[in-house]
Amino acid sequence: MGATRLVIIGGGPAGNTAATVAASLGAEVTIVERDVIGGAAHLWDCIPSKALIATGGELAELTRAPTMGLKAQGTLDIEALRRRVQDIEAHLHDQLCTLLGSQGVRLVMGTARFKDPHTIVADTEHGLEELDADYVLIATGSRPRVPAFAPVDGERVLTTRQAYPPPEIPDHAIVIGSGVTGVEFTHMFASLGSQVTLLVSRQQVLPIKDAEVAAVLEEAFLARGVALLKGARATAITRAADAVTVTCEDGRVVNGSHAVLAVGSLPNSEGLGLEEAGVDVDEDGYVQVNHNCLANVAHIYAAGDVSGRLPLSSVAAMQGRKIAEHLMGLHNRPHRHLDYDKAASAIFTEPEIADVGLAEAEAFASGRKIRVTKVPFSANAKALIKGDPRGFVKIISDPARGVVLGGSIVGGNAAELIGILAVAVANGLTVTDIIDALLVHPTLSESLAEAAS
Ligand SMILES: Cc1cc2nc3c(=O)[nH]c(=O)nc-3n(C[C@H](O)[C@H](O)[C@H](O)COP(=O)(O)OP(=O)(O)OC[C@H]3O[C@@H](n4cnc5c(N)ncnc54)[C@H](O)[C@@H]3O)c2cc1C
Repeated sequence: MGATRLVIIGGGPAGNTAATVAASLGAEVTIVERDVIGGAAHLWDCIPSKALIATGGELAELTRAPTMGLKAQGTLDIEALRRRVQDIEAHLHDQLCTLLGSQGVRLVMGTARFKDPHTIVADTEHGLEELDADYVLIATGSRPRVPAFAPVDGERVLTTRQAYPPPEIPDHAIVIGSGVTGVEFTHMFASLGSQVTLLVSRQQVLPIKDAEVAAVLEEAFLARGVALLKGARATAITRAADAVTVTCEDGRVVNGSHAVLAVGSLPNSEGLGLEEAGVDVDEDGYVQVNHNCLANVAHIYAAGDVSGRLPLSSVAAMQGRKIAEHLMGLHNRPHRHLDYDKAASAIFTEPEIADVGLAEAEAFASGRKIRVTKVPFSANAKALIKGDPRGFVKIISDPARGVVLGGSIVGGNAAELIGILAVAVANGLTVTDIIDALLVHPTLSESLAEAAS
C-alpha cells in the first residue's frame, strides 16, 4: 500500500501546519495555494498589523523618553516602514517554503476546487491539474466582511487588508467596529500619528471582553486623544476627493480623511465545489466540523477560519496539527482533542491585553464558584522601571483545589506573560504551582506569582 495522500486547499497557518506534521508522520502531502504560502495571516493579517504596531510602539516609547531621563525624537519614514514589513513577510515566507520543501511537501500554486469527494482540480498557470486524495483538508481562510453601505475603494474607504502597507498615514482615520481588529487598528493609526475616531456600536469597546479590561483600554485611548463614539452604528459612508463622511443610525455624522472597516469576516467557502464533495456548510458558509475537525464526509477535514471556530492563527495551526495526527492514526489518544476554551489570545494595543480560559463574567453567569485575585502593575518594580505601570493581572482559580481556570493581563508584554497562565490552564496547574516557581526579579511576571498568592 502506498503512502496516505493528503491534499490541502490553502497554505495559511492551518494548511501549512497540517502539511508539515502529516509529512513528518509519513503522508504524501500536496498544498494548493492561490496567493501566497503563509496565507492571509502572513500577507495581510497577523504579521503586517503587528509590524506596524511595533513601529508605533517604538514611537510611543519615544514620547515617554523624557520620563526615562532621555531627550529623543522620532520621525516616521513611511517608505522604510513599508520595506520593513515586506522584508519580514518575505523572510517568513522563505523560511516556510524551505521547511515545507525539506519535509517533501509539494506546493501547487493555483486555485483548487473539488471535482468529486476524492479529486481536487487545481487551476494553475500551466493549466488544470487533477490531484487524487485519500484525505482532503479545506483550509481556505476568510476575508473581511464589507457591509452593503460601504463603497470600498482601496484609497479612502478601506478594509483592514487595504490598510497596510498604508499608501499614506491618514490625517483622520474613522475606524468602524470596536472588536479586536478595530481596537488594534485604532491603536496602530493613533501611534503612527493619525487622529482617530472609533465608532463603538455598543457602550464598551471589546464588547465580549471583561468590562475592567475594556475600561483600561478606553482610558488609554482617551488619554491619547482618540475620540470614542459610543452607541454609534455606521449606516452610510460617502467619499469626496480627499475626505470621507460616515453617518450613523442615530444621525451623528463624522468627517475624516479615511474610513477603515473592521466589522468581521466571511468564510472562503464559495467556488470550492463543496456540493460535488457533499460537504455541508452552515447558513453563514462555515464548514461544519466535529471535535476532530472532520466535516460530514468521512475523509474531509476543515480547519482555520473557514471552520467557524476561534478565528486565530494559533488555533488554525493547532487544528492543522491535530488533523494531521488524527488522519495518520494517532486519534486514540484522548488528550489530543483540541480544547478551544483553553486557547490564549491577545490584543496588541497599548497597553496590551491578553486572556486565557474562564472569564469572570462567564463564571458568574453560570453560577460557578471561583476565586478572583487581582494585582496592579503599579506595585511591580519592573513596570515602574520601564515607566509603564498601567494595567493588572487577574487570576481566576477554583476555590477548593486552587486549580487555575483562567486569567486576564492588561499591561506591557501581556501577550508574552499570558503564556504562563496558558500553560497552567492547559495542564491543570494550581496557583501554588505558580507561586512555587522561582521567577526572576525584577520582572513583570512576578505580578503573576503575586496574583496567585
Ligand atoms: C487584521 C487582522 C489581524 C490578525 N492578527 C492576528 C494575530 O495577531 N494573531 C492571531 O493568532 N490571529 C490573528 N488574526 C487572525 C488570523 O489571521 C486568522 O485566524 C488566520 O489567518 C487563519 O488561518 P487560515 O489558515 O484559516 O487562513 P488564511 O491565513 O486566510 O489562509 C488561507 C489560504 O487559503 C488560500 N485559498 C483560499 N481559497 C483557495 C482556493 N480555492 N484554492 C487555493 N487556495 C485558496 C488563501 O489564498 C490563503 O492563502 C488576525 C486577523 C486579522 C483580520
